[in-house]
Amino acid sequence: MVYRWRCRHCEFTVWGRSGEAVANQVRSHMLAHNRQHVTEGEMQVQWTCPYCDRTGQTSGRERGLEAYSDHLFGHVEALMESGVHVADDIGHTGSILTLSPLESAGANNARVHFISPCDIAVFVTTNPSRRIRLLKRELTELPAWIVVLTTKREPLESLSEESLSTLPLEVVRLDKQLGLSDLGQTVSRVLGEQERMDGKITVEFDILSELLDTFTLQNVFKFLHILNSRLEKADALSHYYFDPSAGYEGSANVIEEMFDLRIRANEETFVSEPSTSP
Ligand SMILES: [Zn+2]
Ligand SMILES: [Zn+2]
Repeated sequence: MVYRWRCRHCEFTVWGRSGEAVANQVRSHMLAHNRQHVTEGEMQVQWTCPYCDRTGQTSGRERGLEAYSDHLFGHVEALMESGVHVADDIGHTGSILTLSPLESAGANNARVHFISPCDIAVFVTTNPSRRIRLLKRELTELPAWIVVLTTKREPLESLSEESLSTLPLEVVRLDKQLGLSDLGQTVSRVLGEQERMDGKITVEFDILSELLDTFTLQNVFKFLHILNSRLEKADALSHYYFDPSAGYEGSANVIEEMFDLRIRANEETFVSEPSTSP
């Protein structure tokens, strides 16, 4: 079960498997919208509610702000929906950028969320064993077919023989010197093979930072544009991973605009925020 809450005042949306975790994000979001109605004194906090004109006064900063955000939450709690999927927002086809460190609980939550409803899972990653182990650990049912595209020499060496023999898995080795157009063609060929099968395709793309390190921003931009339209043609749901804190200041904004949806993923929730870029 996944919950979703969408703000009526801005483009903020939060999703999560725990209703309480979503509610906590909503409380701080509502508080941020209504800071101007809070007066913080030395000993106490005073607030006015713009929805019902109620006022409150509490001693202690933390407790005061908590009381106010609880009160505000009461006005918007009914906007909480359940039984949703993040990809509902883009009709289950298109590209989603997940902003978080690549090897983190947040990114793993997103991976599981995007892969679980799909039949064919394609990965472009330098960490194939970890991705396979995640699926085996978190999914009650593995995808019908898994394709891993990787530059890793012994991509699955840390997985046991017997677990490999039972996996519906195909590995496509990528040359480390591969140019962007060759990479695009390889992904396209894999998609072509999978399109002939029956089932929804999901593509995880982990190597955005590697591409930015190797190629110019303009070329990466062009590559993503072509790749995303190819994925769209395959009716695929693609999820890209990118760590905005990893020092790509100039590129991050440009990259972020390339996707149909952008979320920040942490351990408990996914958040889509209004764009902060000017
Ligand atoms: Zn808002
Ligand atoms: Zn009120």
